[in-house]
Amino acid sequence: MRVTFLGTGVSVPCEKRAQSSILVEDNVKVLLDIGPGALLRLEALGVDPTEIDAVCITHNHLDHNGDLVNLLKARWLMDGEKLDIYGPKGTKNFLESMLNAYPYLRGKLKFRISEESSFRIGELVVNTVQTIHSIESRAYVFENVLAFSGDTKAFQELMSAECEVMIHELSLPFGYRADFHTTPENLKECLSYCKAKRIYLTHLYPMTLAQKDKILEFLDFDAIIAQDLMGFEL
Ligand SMILES: [Zn+2]
Ligand SMILES: [Zn+2]
Repeated sequence: MRVTFLGTGVSVPCEKRAQSSILVEDNVKVLLDIGPGALLRLEALGVDPTEIDAVCITHNHLDHNGDLVNLLKARWLMDGEKLDIYGPKGTKNFLESMLNAYPYLRGKLKFRISEESSFRIGELVVNTVQTIHSIESRAYVFENVLAFSGDTKAFQELMSAECEVMIHELSLPFGYRADFHTTPENLKECLSYCKAKRIYLTHLYPMTLAQKDKILEFLDFDAIIAQDLMGFEL
């Protein structure tokens, strides 16, 4: 499996980072979230929009799904096949409302939506874990290989998911009260449950990025701050 970060940013501009998106390549190509900027990053990688087999949305916040309709429209114009979309409860309604907002796309975009909590994409077995965020939101766990938190406060159940690598959000800096996002203190508290050998941190707000050296020292774990187009093999 090859994993490439397409977007490691947040909803405000920061270090030229695109918003949340990760490309997972196995025998299939899967996007975990598709925030604004993901299509440009795919182009930089030489991946055609029609090559994507599935998109897994963690939650329907704009910084995580903003390029979804763009991808569907590009595939329509490029004669692509039906796209499999997986997302939390509310994803069907979200797409329906987008078709109401852009009625010229109705009947043109080809997709299938599943709100199931466990499924397979090709040979990949995918499970979800409900996360702690301000709206219905879930993490994705590719059995025994990879987990991606989406937006959440760090918590034991997700942190103890069986995987080699965990990709976890770290939105907020030291000293923040955070009910729906992760802080360094909150992450460190949960790291003792972490089954992954390495953790990649993403979705850092600018004030969090400014503390990155102090955070890595504090965590005292094999942790890496992800950057756009950074990748690894599993
Ligand atoms: Zn969010
Ligand atoms: Zn977010």
